[in-house]
Amino acid sequence: MNIPILMYHQIDEPPARGTPLRGLVVSPQSFARQMWMLKLLGYRGLSMRDLEPYLKGEKQGKVVGVTFDDGYQNNVRNALPALTKHGFTATCYGVSSMIGGTNSWDHGIVAEKPLMSSDDWRAWRDAGMDIGSHTRTHANLIQLAADEAFDQIAGSKRELEQALGCDIRHFCYPYGRFDATHRGLVHKAGYVTATTTRRGRFHAGDDLLTLKRVMVARATTLAQLALKLFTTYEDARG
Ligand SMILES: [Zn+2]
Repeated sequence: MNIPILMYHQIDEPPARGTPLRGLVVSPQSFARQMWMLKLLGYRGLSMRDLEPYLKGEKQGKVVGVTFDDGYQNNVRNALPALTKHGFTATCYGVSSMIGGTNSWDHGIVAEKPLMSSDDWRAWRDAGMDIGSHTRTHANLIQLAADEAFDQIAGSKRELEQALGCDIRHFCYPYGRFDATHRGLVHKAGYVTATTTRRGRFHAGDDLLTLKRVMVARATTLAQLALKLFTTYEDARG
């Protein structure tokens, strides 16, 4: 069984042409059409929490993972309505020290956008959505000593659980950067899954702590998305 896990960042109107990383901002209309297409084809969009039994082979079905990196406020404003309309769920990976802040780790590279406040996160959770961790400060784990990396990985889990009152069982490596040591630390911290930026779909038996994903960009058309999801198009690129 192949299970695609979609990777989104921002769902918002596009910034000015020429803005770096503009391609990662998917319009609300495109996102709504993408969720509609999944529904039309008989698929369910699921959070990592709800996808877990499928990844473990305990359940079978037409399912697609839906994930958002970084915890932008526009996720709750612009993605949540389309998700709830179809009865879908999704996981948003938050940066624990930056609740109510901005993506300041991108300072000087892209315009900073607001991240979800505590109230936004609670609204996300109360709508049945899942919350995952993206470290304490959006750290590049590769650049840290092992004890510092563990603090980012385990500390963010603890902080998010305390701040938002829910289990944090799913992790996402910032910048997609990690090695075998970090995989081990994610396991030690008690996470069940971890997603990367490597391209591809999940296949039965794949490692749950180094999951590949399917990136959806601003320019991704519905036809391209269908190819990525339902053919070997994405897998062939490793
Ligand atoms: Zn990120």
